[in-house]
Amino acid sequence: MSQVIGVTGDDLILDELPFVSYEKLDPNKSPGFSVNRLPYITFFDGKSLTSEERMKLGIFSNIYKTVRIMELDKETGKEAARIALKIYEQQGGIRTSEIIAATIAAAMEKGVAISRESVESAYEKLSLAENKTTDEIHNKIKKKLMKIMMEFNIKSNWERLTVSYVNLLANAIGADNTSRVPMIVLARAINRSKPTHSAATSVEFFKDLMRIKANSESLWKMVWPPIDKKKFIVDSVSLSLGVGNKEAPDVEPRTAMAVCAKCGTTLYSIEYKPPTPMNPNITHIPLHIPSVCPHCGAKIWDNNRLILRSVKVIFKYRHNNTKVDKIKASVMMPMESSIAIKK
Ligand SMILES: [Zn+2]
Repeated sequence: MSQVIGVTGDDLILDELPFVSYEKLDPNKSPGFSVNRLPYITFFDGKSLTSEERMKLGIFSNIYKTVRIMELDKETGKEAARIALKIYEQQGGIRTSEIIAATIAAAMEKGVAISRESVESAYEKLSLAENKTTDEIHNKIKKKLMKIMMEFNIKSNWERLTVSYVNLLANAIGADNTSRVPMIVLARAINRSKPTHSAATSVEFFKDLMRIKANSESLWKMVWPPIDKKKFIVDSVSLSLGVGNKEAPDVEPRTAMAVCAKCGTTLYSIEYKPPTPMNPNITHIPLHIPSVCPHCGAKIWDNNRLILRSVKVIFKYRHNNTKVDKIKASVMMPMESSIAIKK
């Protein structure tokens, strides 16, 4: 009886199916075969694949397919294969929905953001989408994912996930690398255990501040797990600008203001109409700001880049359109952080 003895290999997972090769029969040795695409599956003492081995090969090929569809890296693929194998061993079988959930769990563990589009594409290509709505499948996968995370004690890498989600969304709006730094810093300050919400909120906030005309709704729809649109509404914002160490002051609700980071002079202050979930609007956030501080002469702009020292934002966070929490995010930016403002 042949047996799969392990999944090994430090090499890369290929984007092709595992390949079984039969070793040449040597009369003095027991005939066997090995799978020589990663993860390596080594069989011994068997003339043909048992049904269990065929099953495992099937699992691996489905994992490869899923990893490829979701455009994930090879390390994540290897981890997904390990998780899938554990599920198989625990229950004696594995469903397509669990293959996808295992892949997502591996991505969360590695801190790799997943787009909703890539997950939906996996549903389609693995024929999971038949006779079911996308929302139904999303919910099913989410349940499987939670079960896998708990049962195998898989820990999400929140830090890396936040950065990864910011990058995913920043790519979508065409933000340059330098402008992503404040986005990442703010996203971390919003809620570390909610990488998708925090990244989307931060990127959306800076998108408006940078006057990038991308559709917010479609931005929120990019991430997986799916998140309710527009749960965070900016209520007040305060910035300290230029190079210095003055923190942005606390502001009243529905106020936007900016101060000089060096001397603290108010550069701009405005009360604005409260945004609503239907009409979120933070375009009143100050931008009519002089290039240097009129009081101390500190540089505020670097050509079209606004130099950002600290940000304080109060978000209203809505639970199912009923309960509203206020979330305060307050961060010092790394020295000379800046965002590129579109004219
Ligand atoms: Zn000043």
